[in-house]
Formats: sequence, C-alpha cells, structure tokens
Amino acid sequence: MAAATVSAIPAVTPHSRLTDSHGRIIHDLRVSITDRCNYKCVYCRTGELGAQYPELTIDEYLRLIGLFVGLGVTKVRLTGGEPLLRHGVVQLVKELSGLRTLWGQPLDIAVTTNGHLLDSLAGPLKAAGLSRITVSMDAVDDSTFERITRIEGSFQTVLGGIRAARAAGLTPLKINCVLLRGFNDDQIEGFARFAREEDVVVRFIEFMPLEEGRLWSPEIVVPLKEIVERINRRVMPLVELPARESSETARRYTFADGVGEIGIIAPVSQAFCGACSRVRLTSDGKIRTCLFSQVEHDLYGRMRAGAGDEELSAYIFRTVQQKEARHHIGEPGFLKPTRSMVHIGG
Ligand code: SAM
Repeated sequence: MAAATVSAIPAVTPHSRLTDSHGRIIHDLRVSITDRCNYKCVYCRTGELGAQYPELTIDEYLRLIGLFVGLGVTKVRLTGGEPLLRHGVVQLVKELSGLRTLWGQPLDIAVTTNGHLLDSLAGPLKAAGLSRITVSMDAVDDSTFERITRIEGSFQTVLGGIRAARAAGLTPLKINCVLLRGFNDDQIEGFARFAREEDVVVRFIEFMPLEEGRLWSPEIVVPLKEIVERINRRVMPLVELPARESSETARRYTFADGVGEIGIIAPVSQAFCGACSRVRLTSDGKIRTCLFSQVEHDLYGRMRAGAGDEELSAYIFRTVQQKEARHHIGEPGFLKPTRSMVHIGG
C-alpha cells in the first residue's frame, strides 16, 4: 500500500518549477511565523482570541522554506500575526539570506510588520540580510491610529519605527493602509501628503472579508476608483505608472509633479487572481494556496511523520497545482475561510 502511494508521487527534478493547473508560475511564498499580535486593529482582531495555532521552530520553518526555494520560489515574505514578536526572527532572516534561488541569486526577503518593535529591530534585520520591509499603518494622526490599533501611544511608536527602518537602509519603504468607510477613509488625503513628505510608498488596500468579527460589507470597502478621484481632486492629479512585473498586485501612481508614489491594491473591485504568484505557509505549517482557500494542506504533519525532502517537495508540487482559479468575494454563496487574516498570515 505504502509503495503504491510513493509511486503515485510525480518525480520532482531539482529544476521543477511550481506552477498551478491554470498556468500560473508560483514564485512568491508568504510565511506566517506566529499568529500572536500585539495590536488589536478593529477591522482585524476582535481582541478576544489570542494565538490559536502552534508555531514551528525556526529550523523547521527554514527547512520548509528551503523546499519551496528548491521549487522556484524567489521571494519570501515573513508575516503573521506580528512577525517581530517571534523570538528568532533575526536569525531566521540571516539563515534565509544564505539560501540561493534555483538561478543562483540571493532570495528576496521581506517582512510585513505593524512597526511597533521596529525601532530596535530595523538595524539587526538589515544587517541579517533583510531586503525590504512593509509597515502597516491605517491612519496618519495619533487619535485615529490609536482608535484603530487600540494601543495607546502606538502612532508615535510606529512613526519612530518607520524612521528607524529608513535610517537602516530598508528602502524603498512601503506603508500599507487598509481603508474602511467610516473608520479611516478621511485619512486618504493625509496619506497622500505623508507619502511625499516621508518619502515612503503608501499603498491603500481594499478591505477583504477576512476579519475575526463581522464587519465586512461591500459598502465598507473604499474602491480604487474613489481613492484615485479623491486624491486627484483634493491633493494633486495622479499619473499612473507602468507595472514592473506581470504579478504586481498594486496599481502604481505618482503625482503630477513627479514627487512621491502611491499604490492601490484592489482585490475586491479589480481582482488580480489571474496574475497571482503566491502561496502561503501558516505558522503551524499548513499550505494555503489562496487567502480564501476552504482547505489547508498539512505539510508540517508530513514532515513530523518523517517524510524526506523529496517526498515533501513532491507534496508541495502537487498541492500548488490545485491552487484555486480565483476568489469569490461578494458573490452569492461566498464562504469566509475558517481562519481570519491574523491567523493565516497577511
Ligand atoms: N502584524 C503585521 C502587520 O500589521 O503588518 C502582519 C500581519 S497583518 C495581518 C498584514 C496586513 O494585513 C496588514 O497590513 C493588515 O492591515 C492587513 N489586513 C488585515 N486584515 C485585512 C483585511 N480584512 N483586508 C485587507 N487587509 C487586511
């Protein structure tokens, strides 16, 4: 019986590239290294649930990430929960920076963080080999920011973290802002100015139905078109920039005077699933082939049961082939995934 299972595994050569059944090449891996978070952003966590899923050891993440890299992944983004809470994150970045892609290049290593611990960690992360960092920030004034994060003093702490990241050379620095009508859509103009003044790329992200509570509705989403129109009218006309690669998720814009850049990621109003190049690994070692997957694939369980690298690579290869064609947000019968964003890894 065991022999039959093994012979069913397709041969994976060292140069097999991860592709799915829709012809998309997968080269981007997002890894959640904890689902704990020190913020309780109103649109993300209810604050009632803490960590829900176990974490792997740093060596286990490394081994699994190495398998994906051996199958053509060129970009690894560490996320969470809050990845900078994870003990060993600097060491993990250091070890990852020693890996090479199938084409012999260094990996592109990025982190998405709320920035709360960045003041002290920006320098060590850069020295460890981190390529880039994205800081999440949903307001540009103290009181709105604190109302969203539900942590006193958080705005100044994150601002300090952003400046520390820039001083450490983690540039170009990206800031992600999720816009919710009635919560922070009054921040759009402020963010446009912030992008220019702080020399950061601000990326507005449409809110997706991935929260722990029940907040999402089509009306709460601030769509791309509205963001562009508001900045055009109230700050300065925007000029769209060409995409740098086909899998780019953000529509990029500069201002009419050429100073500053903003991006808009519109998974709801202008879905980009056809160009998706991502898969995710959760903090407990499950593969998710889409943010909205209804199934998870237990890679870590196989590793713990003693599977060797070849068998695990074949499992990853087969799993990725099953990647969903697209999400179904807003369609009748849409089902939220069983895990929310903070537990999947944003
Ligand atoms: N703690 C880190 C942080 O704050 O960046 C990493 C994890 S967080 C879940 C990653 C990103 O997902 C953040 O930029 C957050 O704003 C975004 N996010 C959370 N829930 C979201 C949702 N329902 N729709 C769109 N983006 C969301």
